[in-house]
Amino acid sequence: MTLVARHGALTDIGLHRKTNEDTFVVRPPLYAVCDGMGGANAGEVASELAAETLAAEVARGTPLHAAAEAANAAVFQRAHENLEQTGMGTTLTAFVLEGRTARFAHIGDSRAYLLRDGELRQVSDDHSLVGEMVRDGRLTEEEAAVHPHRSILSRALGTEPQARIDEFVEDLLPGDVLLLCSDGLSGPVSADDIRVALTRSDPQQAAERLILEARRQGGPDNITAVVVRIDEGPHGAGEEETTLVRPADPEAAEVTGELPFVVVADDDADAAPELDAADALAALRAEQDGEAPDPATEAVRRRKRSVRRLGIVAAILALLAAALAAGAFYLSTVFFIGVDDGALTIYSGVPGKIGPVPLHAVYRRSVVTYDSLSPSARTLVDEQQLRDREDALDLSKLLGMWP
Ligand code: MN
Repeated sequence: MTLVARHGALTDIGLHRKTNEDTFVVRPPLYAVCDGMGGANAGEVASELAAETLAAEVARGTPLHAAAEAANAAVFQRAHENLEQTGMGTTLTAFVLEGRTARFAHIGDSRAYLLRDGELRQVSDDHSLVGEMVRDGRLTEEEAAVHPHRSILSRALGTEPQARIDEFVEDLLPGDVLLLCSDGLSGPVSADDIRVALTRSDPQQAAERLILEARRQGGPDNITAVVVRIDEGPHGAGEEETTLVRPADPEAAEVTGELPFVVVADDDADAAPELDAADALAALRAEQDGEAPDPATEAVRRRKRSVRRLGIVAAILALLAAALAAGAFYLSTVFFIGVDDGALTIYSGVPGKIGPVPLHAVYRRSVVTYDSLSPSARTLVDEQQLRDREDALDLSKLLGMWP
């Protein structure tokens, strides 16, 4: 049985920083988070360069650990070419899905978590001074979480010619949820709130929840979440689009392209199976009709059959009407964020039209324009992902639509 992965990811500048030095990679089967450090935008340079190098190496078939070492070399070299970027570095926490396992590469204090059967477990060690002290038994987790020097790293990528990068493998089970996050998330958000957010079935909504929670807790740092949900495949109709986990398949990145998020909702999905079932039932009845012994004359039989056919047509029409009513109800319960004449807008319904009839209506229109958004925020709008009302409103706040 194949395992199937669905992902969601989001990064946010937080409430107190002027730049976002976090970077994430979502190129199935590779997922990564990098949290850069260093003055004069060097942190941004370091995390982006590390993420790009890692993704490019993995795409060309380099094993994950070696790809992370290549990222170390790239950042270290750049830091030495440019005086302003001396001393820059980054965390890197990444995994590649390989069959029924996740292979990790990890250095720094970004974290990897695994949620299984409702229990959250941190699978990465924090390479920070307080993290080392916790492992030595000199500090408790609780003391470490509020320690004034908790952000001092004991290991980072790009600060030394050779980095000590952890490598480990976790076996995966259907229902597992993996989270990669920067310390701007794991710091302010409690483990229990992380656990609750990850139990949402939609990984993108889980990532958004986590970012919102970190902002609610003050958002002191840049916040990044990559959520990957593992399920048994293949899925039935009406499920969201899935990304197959192809073991050791270097072409997998091309299969999914470079879309940061894969989210597709199918608005016919609810109606179609019902009609198919009705058709099948009608066919079955007609067949049984033909085979059933009928003592009546041919003429009477024909009439009876046409009466039955009328009944079947009526039944199909009734089903169709019910499907349309269900569709109309469905449209009033789903929302997405799109653009109306350049302005960010919450729509009720689904994107697209049937003939000239749009399947959505303006729910709330913002004065904030699409053009004013950052590129990563634009991707979120471009996705036109379907959400419940609460999630649409949450995202609209996250996008700053109501200044
Ligand atoms: Mn950070």
